[in-house]
Amino acid sequence: MWIRDNPGPRTLSMRRGSDKVECEVPLDTKSADRDNKNGDLIIVTIMDPVLIVGAGIVGLTLGQALKQKNIPFEIFERDETPDARGQGWAITLHWALEYMHKMLPQDTLKRIQDVQVDPDVALNDNGNFLFINLETGEPKYKIPPSVRWRVNREKVRRALLHGIEDHVHWGRRVVGVILPENKTKVQLVFADETTLTGRLAIGVEGSRSMVRQILRPDAFDNVPVGINFTGVAVDLTSTEIKSLRDMDPLLFQGCHPPTGAFFWFSMLETPKVNGTAGTDAERYRAQICMSWPENTPEDKVADTDEARLANMKRRAEGFVPFLQQAVERIPAGTAVTEIKLADWECLEWDNQDGRVTLAGDAAHAMTMYRGEAANHGLLDAYHLSEAIEKIYGGSSLASDAINEFETEMRERTSRAVRLSRQACRDAHDWTRLDETSAILTKRAIVGK
Ligand SMILES: Cc1cc2nc3c(=O)[nH]c(=O)nc-3n(C[C@H](O)[C@H](O)[C@H](O)COP(=O)(O)OP(=O)(O)OC[C@H]3O[C@@H](n4cnc5c(N)ncnc54)[C@H](O)[C@@H]3O)c2cc1C
Repeated sequence: MWIRDNPGPRTLSMRRGSDKVECEVPLDTKSADRDNKNGDLIIVTIMDPVLIVGAGIVGLTLGQALKQKNIPFEIFERDETPDARGQGWAITLHWALEYMHKMLPQDTLKRIQDVQVDPDVALNDNGNFLFINLETGEPKYKIPPSVRWRVNREKVRRALLHGIEDHVHWGRRVVGVILPENKTKVQLVFADETTLTGRLAIGVEGSRSMVRQILRPDAFDNVPVGINFTGVAVDLTSTEIKSLRDMDPLLFQGCHPPTGAFFWFSMLETPKVNGTAGTDAERYRAQICMSWPENTPEDKVADTDEARLANMKRRAEGFVPFLQQAVERIPAGTAVTEIKLADWECLEWDNQDGRVTLAGDAAHAMTMYRGEAANHGLLDAYHLSEAIEKIYGGSSLASDAINEFETEMRERTSRAVRLSRQACRDAHDWTRLDETSAILTKRAIVGK
């Protein structure tokens, strides 16, 4: 019995028992007759690949899951190289870890585990997640613990490339989707005006998805939540960071009761991770972020780093001294990044007979106040890989499999988008905070 093994874009390799044969086939050939070394005639049906738009965490995880299932896929990414982005931010993987174990090979999982922001803390992490009163510095709430990996997002992306590098095409910005009359085919259009044919196209290109725009031209825009957010990454000595790490070595958040300002500390790198441990230049790298409701024109985010930093320092003035100092210490000239807080509730779209769909932030942009968006995207990848397996295995019509995938995702994530929006609002109003607030309740696949 011949089975397909790790099919690539041009080369199909097959094996029978321990024998392995490679043959060249065009990418969109549906079937091919080939003689193997023994002269046997073999007939192989070659399916068009799954075309994945975007090599973020979700697109790469989907690629890994499809590889495990021997389903042909190609990933197209607009970034020129894997290192094109800056350092990025840290994210918490929690309830999706269970699904990552199902989708990823052991060595890839190990690579992800190895990019935790503080490997020492990770060894004995209690999973605590503190929410504090910024005026007094007192921990007010402790979000119920769960198993978590706090990882650097860009390093996870690199870890996920392992083993599928040949299927990821950099510098390939997708600008359009064509739906031929043949309802088992779809084509991507690239910025250089070339096209490529596949069996189905998956938009996983983030919260400003181009594929979403094609599927819902009337309502693709994210909806702003009315709260502004800026953040910096800073280097700190062990003395400078001590009081922050004493509160929590990985991350904590809080609200300033008189003004509703929100503060967020998050570890990015320890000296052990960045190689400065034991040297004169020993340093930690951390993220300090703040957000506040937009009530007046003065609350808008300024255009320059200088004015953005001045705004953060001004809003931190009433904070407990160690937190005020943490903001005051941010050096002049530091780049201050704005993150636009807006969401998209996984509206309905026509998946064109199961040929085009969305997943990850493209399908459900949400604010990060519950730290769940990537976890939902990873679960999408799991369900989507199962649906695609049914299509390629012939046990389900593409339209049925993709409809089923989208129904589950839409129900789960539209609720998550609303909860995250509520968490974002609650985080800026001390009077609304109690154990039942969306920002404080346990993170779960179906959040409460
Ligand atoms: C500060 C912050 C903290 C967060 N913390 C957490 C957390 O703790 N836990 C959690 O679960 N989530 C968290 N998130 C959310 C998480 O980062 C996202 O949900 C996740 O990264 C989304 O992954 P994705 O693959 O869907 O999209 P992305 O990571 O946005 O990847 C999309 C990719 O598509 C590419 N692309 C875009 N357009 C095109 C195109 N036209 N053609 C080709 N390629 C294209 C992009 O370059 C990008 O590489 C946080 C987010 C922020 C901002």
